Amino acid sequence: MNIILIEKKELFANHVVLTDHRAKHIVKILQSEVGDCLRLGVIDGLSGEARVTAVQRKYPFVVELSVNLTSQSAPQPGIDLLLALPRPIMLKRILSQVTALGIGTLYLVNANRVEKSFWDAGVLEEKEYRLHLIHGLEQAVDTRLPHIEIHRHFRPFVEDVLPDLASQYSHLLLAHPLEEKRLSQCLNSSAARVLYAVGPEGGWVDFEVKKLLAAGMHSFSLGPRILKVDTAVVAIHSRISQELERGCPL
Ligand code: SAM
Repeated sequence: MNIILIEKKELFANHVVLTDHRAKHIVKILQSEVGDCLRLGVIDGLSGEARVTAVQRKYPFVVELSVNLTSQSAPQPGIDLLLALPRPIMLKRILSQVTALGIGTLYLVNANRVEKSFWDAGVLEEKEYRLHLIHGLEQAVDTRLPHIEIHRHFRPFVEDVLPDLASQYSHLLLAHPLEEKRLSQCLNSSAARVLYAVGPEGGWVDFEVKKLLAAGMHSFSLGPRILKVDTAVVAIHSRISQELERGCPL
């Protein structure tokens, strides 16, 4: 946890009292004392510093903080992901990893090789997936939650939604191991806002590839090594981030 994140409603006259895992983290991991300063942010709001004004070091842990919020959140990241719904345990990892890497919107879509039972997973409930997004923000020292869009039907998404979204992006990229073209041939430093698509564990079927290409996507391969979905997401995301940085150095 590289930043303590709170909900806006937890803040009263620039004071907050923590009694949950965040208090435990401050006591046990950070070993903070009264007078110490911590990084603190409001989810989807400002961030700044918090001074410890009181601590109960024994269970049940309690930490009182005086908060000074000064900084706006970072701009929305220029990368979005269209992801065929993976198994729940993998989805949880991907949610926090892409949030830490920086993502604007995650579109979760159905695909032929997505197991039907994945759609019953509790992690698709906002109150549950939000926790994984917050883990990613805590890791990356950010306050802006990504948007999550869930599309249970592939065809209406690809025919009605995706073509309307396409104009927002400089690059629409489809990760497909069978493609000969490599990512470096599809991406350059003119990249401004990128949507990339990653398929299910069994891969995209031909019909889906055809539909995604018809909606304006360009397919690429990462080479002959077939990666697991979560590894592919992190590898592709990092390569795209690198190109975006080249076009717009930080
Ligand atoms: N046998 C499947 C196939 O040939 O598509 C493997 C699917 S792979 C485990 C899951 C997804 O990760 C793929 O649909 C693709 O989006 C992405 N992926 C994994 N390795 C890749 C690679 N070498 N090149 C491009 N995409 C890759």
